[in-house]
Amino acid sequence: MQKERIHIFDTTLRDGEQAPGYSMNLDEKIRMALQLEALGVDVIEAGFAIASEGDFESIKAVCEHVKKPIIASLSRSLEKDIDASYEAIRGAERGRIHLFLATSDLHLKYKLRMSREEVLDRSTKMVAYARNKIDDVQFSLEDATRTDLDYLCAVVEAVINAGANVVNLPDTVGYASTGDLHRMVDTVMNRVPNADKAIIAVHCHNDLGMGVANTLAGLNAGARQAEVTICGIGERAGNAALEEVVMNLKTRGDIYPFETNINTEQITQSARVLKQITGVKIHPSKAIGGSNAFAHESGIHQHGMMANSLTYEIMTPESVGVKKTSLVLGKHSGQHAFEQRLGELGYSFTKEELSRLFSEFKNLADRKKNVEERDLIALVESAYQGAPTIWELDSFVVNSGNLITSTACVTLKKDDEKHQEVAWGTGPVYAALRAVEKIVDHPFSLEDYTLQAVTEHRDALGEVFVKLRDERGTYRGRGVSTDVIEASILSCLAAINKMVDGAPAKQEHPFKPTNDHSFENDMLMNNSDKRRFM
Ligand SMILES: [Zn+2]
Repeated sequence: MQKERIHIFDTTLRDGEQAPGYSMNLDEKIRMALQLEALGVDVIEAGFAIASEGDFESIKAVCEHVKKPIIASLSRSLEKDIDASYEAIRGAERGRIHLFLATSDLHLKYKLRMSREEVLDRSTKMVAYARNKIDDVQFSLEDATRTDLDYLCAVVEAVINAGANVVNLPDTVGYASTGDLHRMVDTVMNRVPNADKAIIAVHCHNDLGMGVANTLAGLNAGARQAEVTICGIGERAGNAALEEVVMNLKTRGDIYPFETNINTEQITQSARVLKQITGVKIHPSKAIGGSNAFAHESGIHQHGMMANSLTYEIMTPESVGVKKTSLVLGKHSGQHAFEQRLGELGYSFTKEELSRLFSEFKNLADRKKNVEERDLIALVESAYQGAPTIWELDSFVVNSGNLITSTACVTLKKDDEKHQEVAWGTGPVYAALRAVEKIVDHPFSLEDYTLQAVTEHRDALGEVFVKLRDERGTYRGRGVSTDVIEASILSCLAAINKMVDGAPAKQEHPFKPTNDHSFENDMLMNNSDKRRFM
């Protein structure tokens, strides 16, 4: 099927920049324009020259730095606006003067206070005025979708006769349905005798969420220029998003016989540059550009993805500049993806070990919003510390505060039997470890205690490393949990399991501890230099 060329007119620097919170200074506009050039847009609307000195200067600067795309400046249908636009773009490799005038009766009556005849007259006069300055003149019939169709066709014919080579039919307030849009463009294509002398464009706002769909409907009806912005930023609810329009055309070539000049692999970088410039985050579930667009968490989807990515992805992440699909590990994930990720991290486990690890992972995922790679590594490495699981944590309850002595009730499991002890301490961790010591009935001293966060954020995984000493030597243990007391108990148990397993103790240095060496003495003896974590 012969593909027709669609011209991408990007107005991120004009319509986009008009949106609250998206204003850009001169350097930022140049940076964004250079990225739009790399993306392959055909036209960059760089601003509204008469609007401000800043806009005028940044349009000029964009013309100096960017050579491939046409650079356009917006103007009202007034001579002074057109003069300002011309001055701003005259340095461009290829410049375009874009002027507009409203054509809907609503705007004529309340905003312009002009009659249809006056608008028709002004439009043609100003197009001619602009054509005297430059070959490339675009005219937009503002609020076209709420304009009387007969009158609309009359204005289109007149401005083309006056020299406009691009005529834009905007859905200025995002009111249209796809049927409305298709009918409007189709009527212009079929009823306006000189419509073939110009490129018909569509410019769809997103007030009803129809921006992209309406743009596609307009292209199907014969429009050959799509006016869009990066991430759909723009007045009110924004414009049709460039990446969504372009990837619709690319992914659904079976129903859209069109092609563009867009290098789609630059799409993600363009969204990233916009975010860096404006500081406005992109919604994670934003189509194409959102961080979740190629992320799969549910087990069923992950399973399908591992079998064949076409099961749940209609385009490849690489095609829009995303390194790769991410199988996000979270509470909805399946064991397949979990096992695959551990494999990628270089771990392999027996089936039993894997299902045990998987249930610990699920526990963690229930507590922690995002389970990151570092969490996984900490979880795996604390689960397997080279000692059999003799003592296991079943449950614990601690009470602490600065008005009460901390108490802890800890229940451990050994050979499926539960053992419970209660202890008090100067802090919740101290109380909990004392309860553990009472249960395992194997005196030990705490040589070292380190607590660190595995990742950032309030729900970060805490990782505790301990070094315990008994009469035979020292043993290290590591525990992770979003609860630091739980992490402390787990780290202690990991070391104790090595102790009671009879694993060879590490002989740190020749010091031979006295036999009244107990955790308690340790705590009382030199709190100041030991870890004040209690
Ligand atoms: Zn607009």
